[in-house]
Amino acid sequence: MKTTDVLIIGSGIAGATAALQLARNPDRRIILITRAPDPRESNSRYAQGGIISRGEDDTAELLVKDILAAGAGASLPRAAEILAEEGPGLLEEILVGTAGIEFDHDSNGEPEYGQEAAHSRRRILHVGDGTGRAIMQGLAETLKRFPNVEVETHFTGVDLITFPHHSRDPLTAYEPIACHGAYVFDRQAHTVHRTLAAATILATGGLGRIYRNTTNPAGARGDGLAMASRAGARIVNAEYIQFHPTALAVPGAEGFLISEAVRGEGGVLLTPEGEPFMEKYSPEWKDLAPRDVVARAIHSEMEDHNYSYVLLDLASHMSSPKIKERFPNIYQECKRVGVDISREPIPVVPAAHYFCGGVAVDEWGRSSIQNLYAIGEVSCTGLHGANRLASTSLLEGLVWGNRAAQDVESRLASRTLPPTPRLEDVPPWDESGLTEAPDPALIQGDMQTIQNIMWHYVGLIRSGDRLSRAIRELRHLQNEIETFYSVTKLSDGLIGLRNAVEVALIVAQAARHNRQSRGCHFRSDAVQVGDRLI
Ligand SMILES: Cc1cc2nc3c(=O)[nH]c(=O)nc-3n(C[C@H](O)[C@H](O)[C@H](O)COP(=O)(O)OP(=O)(O)OC[C@H]3O[C@@H](n4cnc5c(N)ncnc54)[C@H](O)[C@@H]3O)c2cc1C
Repeated sequence: MKTTDVLIIGSGIAGATAALQLARNPDRRIILITRAPDPRESNSRYAQGGIISRGEDDTAELLVKDILAAGAGASLPRAAEILAEEGPGLLEEILVGTAGIEFDHDSNGEPEYGQEAAHSRRRILHVGDGTGRAIMQGLAETLKRFPNVEVETHFTGVDLITFPHHSRDPLTAYEPIACHGAYVFDRQAHTVHRTLAAATILATGGLGRIYRNTTNPAGARGDGLAMASRAGARIVNAEYIQFHPTALAVPGAEGFLISEAVRGEGGVLLTPEGEPFMEKYSPEWKDLAPRDVVARAIHSEMEDHNYSYVLLDLASHMSSPKIKERFPNIYQECKRVGVDISREPIPVVPAAHYFCGGVAVDEWGRSSIQNLYAIGEVSCTGLHGANRLASTSLLEGLVWGNRAAQDVESRLASRTLPPTPRLEDVPPWDESGLTEAPDPALIQGDMQTIQNIMWHYVGLIRSGDRLSRAIRELRHLQNEIETFYSVTKLSDGLIGLRNAVEVALIVAQAARHNRQSRGCHFRSDAVQVGDRLI
């Protein structure tokens, strides 16, 4: 059992930024936990394209306009303004100044701004096509300089400690829900301990792994969302899952992102028989249609013809040396798993990429539960609305990581956070009755079932019938998993499975509830009323 000022769960860009900003006050004690063996391991680490800054002929107003346009009418203007006004300055101050990250420059030493889809200006800073790797390296190294930050790897958050739920005092039932830390599973010692904190910050990232095809790494299974939901936090926009049209579909490198730039440079999508098909879905734009249109087209081809992938042919449209020069990492990774993209087409599938919804938070990352903050992909600030503008998510983690740290610091300084309970007020984790060893076959099998249900029924093309079917099957599975969970010794895999089925249901229910196609939520049975689809 431990007591600290601030517990941060998750060490990606959002959690690491919050830790760094809080650590500036040497009197603050911060515990930063991650389930991964390495604090750099996170979705943040795999970000390729880059992070938004302010381009040469750019303004905060122009960025706000682009974010709101991408969000399909559901982005919160104030959240977009905060990001656009504060983001570029924080990028310079924290990432460049404090963490020493060197973004690419041209030969004159000027920042090399990249262009991405739906951005009206060149404003994306990058470090080659490994921006996330460079950012996480810089942040993790910088955190080592702060002795008041204890980074605990191999520690999986299990459940938030909330009152009245975990209180021994029945009178707390009449008070608002408040968070006082978390039960944390030590993966190496196989025990659960209590970490009590004046403020708790969830920074656990997204949930792409609840889908069969995803670009997300193994840890993105919605743990934080499930924990917050069980604790009673408000969750919004859970139906908005952004899919990327082209992820590699080759064993050993499933989900590896094949950048949209490949189509930008002339790559053409083909059926496995070699027939181009995009003209049928978008006669005007063909292979360069918007991301969601291309993703749905591929999905339809796969479902209608029972294909397990389609092909992306770049070799017929670009010379071999040019391909190697323009796409060195994609070339290398595909080569590693036996596909030479300079000579043959690439097998691809659409894949779950980003969770636009999350734990509802305000401008400071405060959730609907007292003392509980959520930042980064697990949160919903309203910024992304129904569809995320490319490269906004790293910056959102930075901005709200900083804002949550500021708010926590000022409330700690002014002693306005509710007091941390005494150890004897919080029961220890009850392991009585947990007699069974976790069966990896059951955990893996159930996880695959969830991923298949989500892919087929809560995927790119949704309908009331598909969603109802998903909810029925997920509820049944959740009952099975809860029964299994209540008698089985804890493991990281079991924690993840329980959370995955919970968040799958949250997404499926939100998708059934919303009968309007908007942004990345597409319903084939959206109802037309007057001139509006509802
Ligand atoms: C392939 C790929 C490319 C991308 N490219 C870009 C891009 O170019 N630009 C951009 O802006 N965005 C990009 N994104 C999106 C972006 O990377 C993420 O949205 C962002 O990094 C999320 O940051 P985060 O800090 O919220 O979460 P993450 O970086 O995912 O960090 C989550 C942390 O929580 C920990 N964790 C999870 N569950 C638990 C638990 N139960 N207990 C303890 N720890 C836990 C994890 O170990 C990890 O440390 C990309 C995403 C992917 C997958």
